[in-house]
Amino acid sequence: MSSRTNLSQGRGYLAIPGPSVMPEAVLNAMHRPAPNIYAGELVDMMPPLMQDLRDVARTQHHVAMYIGNGHGAWEASLSNVISPGDKVLVPATGRFGIGWGEMATGLGADVEVMDFGKQSAMDLARIEERLKADTAHEIKAVLAVHVDTSTSVVNDIAGVRAALDSAGHPALLMADCIASLACDRFEMDAWGVDVMVTGCQKGLMVPPGVSFVFFNDRAAEVRASMPRVSRFWDWEPRANPEEFYQYHCGTAPTHHIYGLRAALDMIKAETIEAVWDRHTILSRAVWAACDVWGSEGTLALNIADPALRSHAVTSLRLQAPQATQLREWVQENIGLTLGIGLGMAEPGSPESHGFFRLGHMGHVNGQMIMGMLGGMEAGMAALDIKRGTGALDAAAKVIGGV
Ligand SMILES: *Cc1c(COP(=O)(O)O)cnc(C)c1O
Repeated sequence: MSSRTNLSQGRGYLAIPGPSVMPEAVLNAMHRPAPNIYAGELVDMMPPLMQDLRDVARTQHHVAMYIGNGHGAWEASLSNVISPGDKVLVPATGRFGIGWGEMATGLGADVEVMDFGKQSAMDLARIEERLKADTAHEIKAVLAVHVDTSTSVVNDIAGVRAALDSAGHPALLMADCIASLACDRFEMDAWGVDVMVTGCQKGLMVPPGVSFVFFNDRAAEVRASMPRVSRFWDWEPRANPEEFYQYHCGTAPTHHIYGLRAALDMIKAETIEAVWDRHTILSRAVWAACDVWGSEGTLALNIADPALRSHAVTSLRLQAPQATQLREWVQENIGLTLGIGLGMAEPGSPESHGFFRLGHMGHVNGQMIMGMLGGMEAGMAALDIKRGTGALDAAAKVIGGV
């Protein structure tokens, strides 16, 4: 079909699990001349911004902001509470748990990984058992990823707190909510999380560039007992600044502050509960379509149990190399970008072409999800990929509430 007309002109849809779709309100807020960083509006914007961030994270405690991406927040969080030689436990459920552990290794920590594989959530009983066995309380922190973006599993963070408590273990509970914040329900204080890291470019709908570390008083005490903390990563002056420049340890991320203000206003107007509900329904629509497609052929959701699936991202399999072929087809022909598989197979290996992911985090609504699913249907039709029929009907019923 070399004469086929290309249908990719028009607004594209970046359906990858971060960066997410940027709202016009965020982009418009960022499109402005450089503001003064010594006085005026920008300076006054910070206290309410910090408060609104706390509200989204459901915490009364502290937040430090960093110019950096998720990896920066990983390093920031560890730098404040982990010294060389300290032991950390990493219950891994995908590539991102492993990645946070690698950052800890880079800082000289003694990292113990409990690998729960690529298709399961953390086994809380095994975590509790491991903590109970640590009678000397050598483990200083548990690094728990809420939603592992590679596998799209959601972990029970409150359950990890319960495991720590039932083992009577004093380790800090540190949670990675980079994929999940403002998508999947997360309650920092109610769930007993001591430290939480997130970035701005997923559920918070802002271009990559700033990230956050939230911490409670227990974590602040651990920070206070550290032999040294590098000045740039130190969360103390950022969370309790006496001068404006201390929020950012230097020049403020001026335009990100405006973008974040617009994004937090949107979340506030919708309410965080409604944001969670919207992601719940949109992800159910995605799964409904995938279940129907998967009733024939090889398409399958990576996480079998719906209760363990994230509402921010969905990891899928297809007979290799069809996952890559589908991604390439929808990209080239209809302006739809789907996410690559991550951490499921050796990059570039034949098997790696059997995995892909759908991002449905942040500024996403019903028609965008139907458009994404419709685009996938078109791609699978064009490529003659075997699949069940009626997937879009199934998704439409979820979106339509029938
Ligand atoms: C995206 C992501 C990261 C890494 O964030 P970067 O901005 O790419 O450094 C870490 N953890 C999780 C769960 C993520 O989704």
